[in-house]
Amino acid sequence: MAKDYYQLLGISKNASKEDIKKAFRKLAHQYHPDKQGGDEDKFKEVSEAYSILSDDKKRAEYDSYGHTFGGGKTQEGGFDFSGFQGAGFEDLDLGSIFGEFGDLFGGAGRPRQKRGRDISIDLEIPFRDSVFGIERKILIAKLSVCQTCHGSGAKEGTELITCKICNGNGKVRETRNSIFGTFTNVRVCGVCSGTGKTPKEKCSTCRGAGVMRREEEITVTIPPGLDNGEVIRLGGMGEAAQGGVSGDLYIKVHVLPHPLFHKEGANLVMPLSVKLSDALLGAEYPVHTFDGTITVKIPNGISFGEVLRVRGKGVPVERGKRGDLLIKLNIQLPNKISKKSEKLLEELRKEGI
Ligand SMILES: [Zn+2]
Ligand SMILES: [Zn+2]
Repeated sequence: MAKDYYQLLGISKNASKEDIKKAFRKLAHQYHPDKQGGDEDKFKEVSEAYSILSDDKKRAEYDSYGHTFGGGKTQEGGFDFSGFQGAGFEDLDLGSIFGEFGDLFGGAGRPRQKRGRDISIDLEIPFRDSVFGIERKILIAKLSVCQTCHGSGAKEGTELITCKICNGNGKVRETRNSIFGTFTNVRVCGVCSGTGKTPKEKCSTCRGAGVMRREEEITVTIPPGLDNGEVIRLGGMGEAAQGGVSGDLYIKVHVLPHPLFHKEGANLVMPLSVKLSDALLGAEYPVHTFDGTITVKIPNGISFGEVLRVRGKGVPVERGKRGDLLIKLNIQLPNKISKKSEKLLEELRKEGI
């Protein structure tokens, strides 16, 4: 049997909503972890109990089965803050407090690590490169780790000293007043960015920031068969943050249209105009493909729009395998004919062709 939520809140099974609210208010006040004599585990327990019992549906499930199906717990065992939405916490005017102390749930009071900005850019590539893939080098101006001090912010050969603002903790505590009393909020120290150390003498390149705006060359691998509008994500290639982790780089790829070819899944499709006589009698045609010039045999008696399939000359799909090249035939009718041709055609007409 799971924890007894009624016992946790010190109420009876038939307690009214008002009783539940009152009991939780009292206990939340008592156990809040940033209060003197607070108890984080207890606080989480009573919060969990309240989130279930204050919700009619969850309370009914709990009463019947001893647990709820929506649950209040995340898989990692931390408390799911989102579960508070609509659980009646708004009535208690706790929203702002849970907002400030969101770290308590799951993060166990640790301030979040600084993270650099994500960057998104657009990249145009020729059609051919979207078929076979390519490595492209691009220049991006962004906040990067300083190459002189490698992010420490210290002048070469000088040492780092303990941050005076946070005394080397990397965190600073802020005290706030609320209806439950005085609470302390912990956040990352803005001076040392959570590293707990500051340079004794600042790096002259980045003026002690550890990061600076500069152009960086980045190699992007475009995989074969990429479609127009697809986005490539390069983790950690976004902007740097001092003492933190870099953001991500998102590259939206725009494939320039080709005058002849287009893609249909793993197949490449191209048109080919065939003369009337060749369509009737059959012929061999040279065709310029991405694999060089190949000879295509046109069988006799083809019809307009018929498709010839050249196996293995399409888009690379997996190791060594490729889609097909589809050649869509177009029969070119002459718009001017000579006297001689006219005579020959009259002959054909007599033949019933
Ligand atoms: Zn530097
Ligand atoms: Zn500091």
